[in-house]
Amino acid sequence: MKPFKFHSPETATVAFQLAEKNSQYIAGGTNQVDLMKKHINEPNIVIDVKDALSNTIEIKKKGVHIGALATNSDVAENKSIKEDYPLIAQAILSGASPQIRNMATTGGNLLQRTRCPYFYDTAMPCNKRKPNSGCGALDGHQRMAGIVGTSENCVAVHPSDFCVALVALDAEVNIIKQDGTEDTIAFEDFHRLPGNQPQKDTNLPEQALIVSVFIPKKKFKNNVAYVKVRERDSYAFALVSAAAALELKNGQIKKARLASGGVAHKPWRWKTSERFLKGKQANRANFEEAARLAVAETQPLQNNTFKTALLQGAITEALLQCLSNSSTI
Ligand SMILES: Cc1cc2nc3c(=O)[nH]c(=O)nc-3n(C[C@H](O)[C@H](O)[C@H](O)COP(=O)(O)OP(=O)(O)OC[C@H]3O[C@@H](n4cnc5c(N)ncnc54)[C@H](O)[C@@H]3O)c2cc1C
Ligand code: SF4
Repeated sequence: MKPFKFHSPETATVAFQLAEKNSQYIAGGTNQVDLMKKHINEPNIVIDVKDALSNTIEIKKKGVHIGALATNSDVAENKSIKEDYPLIAQAILSGASPQIRNMATTGGNLLQRTRCPYFYDTAMPCNKRKPNSGCGALDGHQRMAGIVGTSENCVAVHPSDFCVALVALDAEVNIIKQDGTEDTIAFEDFHRLPGNQPQKDTNLPEQALIVSVFIPKKKFKNNVAYVKVRERDSYAFALVSAAAALELKNGQIKKARLASGGVAHKPWRWKTSERFLKGKQANRANFEEAARLAVAETQPLQNNTFKTALLQGAITEALLQCLSNSSTI
């Protein structure tokens, strides 16, 4: 690891004074330390934001505010999250291991880098790590690569489970920029598609800090499910995942939310499927059609066509599971 200066400021203002072009923030460190050890990030200055930001989970009438420093474990085990936002708890608990979730923070989870193997191998070309160097995955190992929204410059996926639930539930990201101004970014607009700038994962301005994530209160708590398909049953990133949330009345779908992980450079919403489901009866035939519509949007690569079948199954299963914990149909 390259030597660096380390600071633990007590406020965001001081963090911004310390930040410069080649500095990096660190929170739980579960991704950042690996990136530094593998010489993907080589900052001159590392700024620990643990004392500068909040870790509180505030339940308000309109929704919940999750501080950027709240750990994945604290969020998943929070009583109100479990009761009112169970999709969030399910998604988080499907990820990593208890030890990693104890360290991993909310802000860090949003900003974790892709798990594309070529990104972590500095001997290989990778446009995300080194712009204009090429993409090792285009003619290489594509098992973990995307099937929708990819570009000729990058086919990587965003690895988070938590973020899939957040995009499904119309969350927002509250940020503070280096000039001290605050802003809010709709979760759906937070992560980017690779296009011709795959080095940019998100629309977070340079040096800005994530302060919190807000999830609006909706009538989704009874009928939600997160289904994750992976190489082994725990401690593995998603090949594909599906987050489903339904608002039901007398067996009819009033509102549907459907999102996936493991398929795109950003947590992906299936809006055509959501529109199809709205007003329909909540039954297997309609769920299967919603899954088929989602798969129709995908363009798998040469070596990951198997993902479409997994996706179709995961979406159907997630929608069916929404009914098994239902109290409103
Ligand atoms: C072995 C392993 C398995 C894993 N499995 C899964 C999985 O199955 N599912 C899943 O979703 N995740 C998984 N993860 C990822 C893990 O959840 C993330 O590494 C973690 O959430 C990152 O949070 P952190 O606080 O440790 O971030 P850090 O590593 O500290 O930082 C990550 C990035 O975020 C930036 N950052 C952190 N906080 C802020 C902030 N408030 N504002 C601005 N920038 C900030 C840092 O500068 C850095 O760029 C796994 C990780 C490991 C190591
Ligand atoms: S898919 Fe993206 S992250 Fe992976 S090698 Fe290609 S450019 Fe790099």
